[in-house]
Amino acid sequence: MAIRIYNTMSRTKEEFVPREPGKVAMYVCGPTVYNHIHVGNARTFLSFDVIRRYLAWRGYEVTFVQNITDVDDKIIKRAQEEGRSPAEIAETYTLAFRSAMDALGVLPPTRQPLATQTIPDMIAMVERLIERGHAYVVDGDVYFSVRSFPGYGELSGRDIDELEAGARVEVDERKQDPLDFALWKAAKPGEPHWPSPWGEGRPGWHLECSVMSERELGVPFDIHGGGSDLVFPHHENERAQSEAATGKPFVRYWMHGGMLQIDSEKMSKSLGNFLLLKDVLAQYPAAVVRMLMLQTHYRSPLDFSGARLDEAAAALERITNVVRNLQWAKDGAGSGPGAPADARSALNDAVREARERFVEAMDDDFNTAGALAAVFELGRACNAFLAEHQAKLGTEDRGVLEEAASAVRELLSVLGIELGEAEREAEPSADVIGMARDLAGYAGTDADEALRALLAAREAARSERNWEAADAVRDALGSLGYAIEDTPQGPRVVRRGGS
Ligand code: AMP
Ligand code: ZN
Repeated sequence: MAIRIYNTMSRTKEEFVPREPGKVAMYVCGPTVYNHIHVGNARTFLSFDVIRRYLAWRGYEVTFVQNITDVDDKIIKRAQEEGRSPAEIAETYTLAFRSAMDALGVLPPTRQPLATQTIPDMIAMVERLIERGHAYVVDGDVYFSVRSFPGYGELSGRDIDELEAGARVEVDERKQDPLDFALWKAAKPGEPHWPSPWGEGRPGWHLECSVMSERELGVPFDIHGGGSDLVFPHHENERAQSEAATGKPFVRYWMHGGMLQIDSEKMSKSLGNFLLLKDVLAQYPAAVVRMLMLQTHYRSPLDFSGARLDEAAAALERITNVVRNLQWAKDGAGSGPGAPADARSALNDAVREARERFVEAMDDDFNTAGALAAVFELGRACNAFLAEHQAKLGTEDRGVLEEAASAVRELLSVLGIELGEAEREAEPSADVIGMARDLAGYAGTDADEALRALLAAREAARSERNWEAADAVRDALGSLGYAIEDTPQGPRVVRRGGS
């Protein structure tokens, strides 16, 4: 089965056929570095991180390019407000962006060009556009002539005459047509500037992406991504510039993510209703933020709230427990007669089906919600298997238990949800080992063994009717966030929380 991608250009899902077999060239618009990014921005970057990871997991060699817009009106304004140079502001927030992405588990781009280091290529593209009759110079500014590009409006589905009617409100005498937009802006005093054939100036925002994507990937490249708020005018303008300049198609698949909202309103810096990613990550592990965001399809709006983060934390906890219990059951399996063969093969089937359904969902325009559902379904099958057969497990059960645990781990890690990390974060293993040393005479260094030793110590105390000692073990475990659950097959330790 082929991967299908919703292409904003055709407004349909299309089979994904990269320009070169086995390779994917993708470009995702990067941030304008004048502030810390908010969780809305993070959602878009996370969506494309998962798309990239999935394509790589499906065997493609992915080249992922993302620009940094390090010259822009907003950066200049911020610099003036703070009495710092625009370059300092840009550098501060470029570093902040990279570390926030790293903290969220977003893989670094294959290449990350800076706008300020691509100026000669930008000047070259503007010259090409002037030569080809698509741009004109007015007093040191250069404008793109929208009417010179017949396909203008096709990407965003807008009619050029309607746009024209809307644009007439803000008439700018210098433009030949109100729809025309700046490719190059003459520098005002105090602004960053570079020499050009039209005088000192700086590039327009749309131009940057056209130039950097073509330089890094060549055209047409496979996937161009961003949030849906970039379709118009940013991507419409990128496409017009690039196709007018090269005479070739620019992009094969245009992909746009839905907006993250708070109280049903788009999160944005201008509305002031934003939460910074770094502040959210100070409170919740990255795996929880990813779990929350990936429960919604990337093209749908996503409602963000503290309650939903807590739900996602609980879901992560549940699936972490499944893997822990499988691991534990596997390590402990040996002395029993073994689960019935048909139960073992049913669990094997559940693992295979989960893998199949995961791929089916992701192949269908990266349906991460469906993919997660497949993993949780497998989790339920595992729990049911353990609830029924835990007490009689034998060595022949080890294989399927291991298969199930590694399927859950692997599929989640394709989505960038690293269970190992969540587990490590959730598991104060050094404390458990210390506690087992004190209360159960445990001498080893393995956290799972230590938990088993504690459980055995509690059982021993109970069988001697030493309730005080038994409760001491229970309370000590409780202080680290563990609960002892009495099941028909005997007691077991679970991580408390959320669910
Ligand atoms: P900006 O720095 O404003 O250009 O935004 C960087 C990226 O974040 C772009 O791809 C935007 O489409 C995206 N973005 C901005 N606001 C949101 C939001 N509320 N939800 C999802 N993506 C957003
Ligand atoms: Zn862009």
